[in-house]
Amino acid sequence: MSRILPAGGVEFEFTVPVVVIGGGAAGMVAALAAHERGAGVLVLERDALPQGSTALSAGLIPAPGTRWQRAAGIEDSPQRFAADVIAKAKGEPDPAAVARVAQAVGPALEWLADRYGLPFSVVDNFSYPGHSARRMHGLPSRSGAELIDRLRGAVEAAGIDVLCEAHVTALYADGPLVRGVEITRPDGSLERVGCGALVLACNGYGGNRALVRHHVPELAEALYFGHPGNQGDALLWGEALGAATRHLSGHQGHGSVAHPAGILVTWATITEGGVQVNAEGRRFSNEAQGYSEQAAVVLRQPDGIAWTVFDERIAGIARQFEDFRQAEAMGAVLTADSPVELAGLMKIDPGILSATLAEVDRLKAAGGTDGFGRDFAGSALLAPPYRAVRVTGALFHTQGGLVVDDAARVLDARGAPLPNLYAAGGAACGVSGAKASGYLSGNGLLTAVALGRIAGTAAAGVMKEERSQ
Ligand SMILES: Cc1cc2nc3c(=O)[nH]c(=O)nc-3n(C[C@H](O)[C@H](O)[C@H](O)COP(=O)(O)OP(=O)(O)OC[C@H]3O[C@@H](n4cnc5c(N)ncnc54)[C@H](O)[C@@H]3O)c2cc1C
Repeated sequence: MSRILPAGGVEFEFTVPVVVIGGGAAGMVAALAAHERGAGVLVLERDALPQGSTALSAGLIPAPGTRWQRAAGIEDSPQRFAADVIAKAKGEPDPAAVARVAQAVGPALEWLADRYGLPFSVVDNFSYPGHSARRMHGLPSRSGAELIDRLRGAVEAAGIDVLCEAHVTALYADGPLVRGVEITRPDGSLERVGCGALVLACNGYGGNRALVRHHVPELAEALYFGHPGNQGDALLWGEALGAATRHLSGHQGHGSVAHPAGILVTWATITEGGVQVNAEGRRFSNEAQGYSEQAAVVLRQPDGIAWTVFDERIAGIARQFEDFRQAEAMGAVLTADSPVELAGLMKIDPGILSATLAEVDRLKAAGGTDGFGRDFAGSALLAPPYRAVRVTGALFHTQGGLVVDDAARVLDARGAPLPNLYAAGGAACGVSGAKASGYLSGNGLLTAVALGRIAGTAAAGVMKEERSQ
């Protein structure tokens, strides 16, 4: 469906200076930025209501040096954040690309707060793996649904047109110059809209099983937990137009999705001192490395299943997340006064689980590192009542994509920008490198918000330059 058609002779019903494909965080932020620069903007979204993976996320965005951090006494800087991103991905991402988003994201959040009333606050009561400062920012419910609802509200209040049930099925181009898009409506009818500049904000290819099998074979059969409409259209169009792509195997997995409830169980359950055991009641990994790489690790356990085990203190922290509250409401979070009772509820060997948890207690008390390399120093002992959730590993979204420059322009294989094509969010190559382990918490919305603003601003700028010539 993601075709490139010749533009010659095509009559567009109308032409809009900036067309944005995709109504997730990247698309909505790009639309706001382009509109502010005075451009006419049209957002095209295949669903009846714009939500995307953004709505499925926890809506947490890492940003350094913000006023919310300063108010909480948290020291941070774009350089420090960039160093964390690069360290997590073991030096794989382009330092310039990392610096670009690390510098842009803080001002972008403050802009969204000041101009559009998004009430961000910083998560200051727990740390995410790999972040050397507490820099995750979220809205009051800590949910992506609230993030996309508020962004959509801002777009609507600004008078920006959002066309829903508008599935872009082809681009019209003259060589690398995009002239317009073909929209397929639910009844199969086609519409053709011309564009001055095109922003690809239609995320990656997580929903396209064939592309996942090709690029991320270890998660080929994993549950896909992202938005099904993300079929890799940006990647396929970009490739057909001669765009450079990078790190296509990069992705965010997650090793703690409640199963079968299908609800994300926050990784705070681990970072605060919880552990994962398999169906035998034994630990099998250094869980603290990160939730992304843990997806494939959990899937290698019997039946692709693990149990995340923690306690009431940690549940109290996790409860700030809507997802966790839902998991509890659905009865997915077991509770028991002792490891033996917990094992009974989990239907696993009580002796093995008790021994596993006793060993974890011993390591914590001694401040030791286990055989998997997890350092338990400073970690509080688990105390009754204990909690456990049955989880599996899932693919959340892909991180590789189209290579962009400082203005979010899509680059060709020689590093030259395509004339009027921009990419943001999951459509663009992220900053996680080529492996799941390279994903630092928040890298997804980082490039959605930071690159979205850059892309929208630059796409509107192209139109201004053209008008003044
Ligand atoms: C469960 C879960 C939790 C997550 N938690 C976090 C988190 O806390 N922090 C974080 O940083 N990241 C998180 N992520 C990742 C984050 O959700 C994504 O990185 C981010 O939402 C990407 O934004 P986007 O705008 O690029 O894509 P999306 O929000 O997916 O939006 C893309 C939109 O494009 C539309 N579209 C696709 N193709 C077409 C087409 N051809 N025509 C028209 N429309 C089209 C789709 O319908 C969709 O609405 C999480 C992801 C998941 C799945």
